[in-house]
Amino acid sequence: MFRLVLLGAPGVGKGTQAAILARRLALPHISTGAMLREAIAQKSEIGLKVQAVIEAGNLVSDEMMISLVRTRLSAADCAKGFILDGFPRTIEQARALEKMLIKINAELTHVVLFEASTEELLSRLAHRRGTEDRKDDSLEAQQERLRVYEKQTLPLVEFYENAGLLLRVNAIGEIDEISVRAAQSLGISG
Ligand code: AMP
Repeated sequence: MFRLVLLGAPGVGKGTQAAILARRLALPHISTGAMLREAIAQKSEIGLKVQAVIEAGNLVSDEMMISLVRTRLSAADCAKGFILDGFPRTIEQARALEKMLIKINAELTHVVLFEASTEELLSRLAHRRGTEDRKDDSLEAQQERLRVYEKQTLPLVEFYENAGLLLRVNAIGEIDEISVRAAQSLGISG
């Protein structure tokens, strides 16, 4: 059983690796960023509320994110495990996740941290600006998201290290190489 959280700075390739792992493990890939972008595209109530926040590179409120994830994790497909990509992003979200799981008598099995240097991240983000049509990917928004990551999300590394859950994966190299490393760290290679 895998109940995974994937961590990593913007641009590290976490979403790509999450999708590969989800296919390999046949588990739901829960990307909170993708859920929010879909809400924006559909102009739903949540979408309208969060659009400006996301486009500025800031974080959506813990309250809203926690409620979104609580609903998603209660769906039947998550009973066999899940891969969380983009949540938690703050200590408050991490604590709320812990509580949600305790209620259903479950806990995280691993937290995978994808690591790359700031130099590498900046070069990947510049590439993404050129190729993907994401409104939240202006240079200013990307820089803000890196700052927000360092301030709000990086403390989760220590949080999960202390919980004995953290696996570190070198995220520099080809997509396939990195996915092999991630699988090995989870003991599912071969
Ligand atoms: P992502 O695709 O994971 O990079 O998310 C894109 C944007 O959605 C982020 O920059 C945030 O504005 C918002 N977002 C996604 N997940 C969360 C979260 N767990 N907490 C707060 N904001 C989030």
